[in-house]
Amino acid sequence: MKLVFATNNLNKLKEVQEMLPNTIELLSLQDIRCEEEIDETEVTLEGNARIKADYITQKFGYNCFADDTGLEVDILDGSPGIYSARYAGEPSNAENNMQKLLKELDGKENRKAQFRTAICLNLDGKQFLFEGICKGKILFDKQGEKGFGYDPIFQPEGFQESFASMKSDEKNTISHRGIAIQKLIVFLTNHKTQIS
Ligand code: IMP
Repeated sequence: MKLVFATNNLNKLKEVQEMLPNTIELLSLQDIRCEEEIDETEVTLEGNARIKADYITQKFGYNCFADDTGLEVDILDGSPGIYSARYAGEPSNAENNMQKLLKELDGKENRKAQFRTAICLNLDGKQFLFEGICKGKILFDKQGEKGFGYDPIFQPEGFQESFASMKSDEKNTISHRGIAIQKLIVFLTNHKTQIS
């Protein structure tokens, strides 16, 4: 079965493909020649993941899954959430986003936050949602050089270092995205007898 992962990130695609049974062939947006920007107009991560998955299924006729991630800070009532990529405005800039968040939390003791990933899967006319959460806290200063986005200022629970100080495979096993993808993979693997 061909299954579209609504992403242009070929590293993400390869990583997930390697974990799937070989009865499932993953296709990227490039593979199906989808070049248009899909507007994420919903107010939840689940809604935005659904928009992307539905767009591909309706327009291209493929089974498909899409993901959406946000950083949710307790004391900011879940912000930046769906606005994480463009928290400090357009164009998206990770450094500016981190500086804005550090400023918002200036002097605040409660630094609790979580990354949350929602995945929407359209499979043979049915829709399934998967969620991955990684709890942690926002540091007072940047730490580490690896990763992307808010990694230098996010420290996952149970660790003494930021995401940006961790090796990528170490981060992937505990991260929001890793957890959500793992749930998706278990689901698809258990369904492989029905998939040909
Ligand atoms: P996306 O839905 O995966 O594109 O994520 C939206 C935004 O959330 C990204 O542009 C980043 O700012 C942030 N983000 C998502 N995942 C991570 C992560 O693993 N580390 C740091 N920031 C992330």
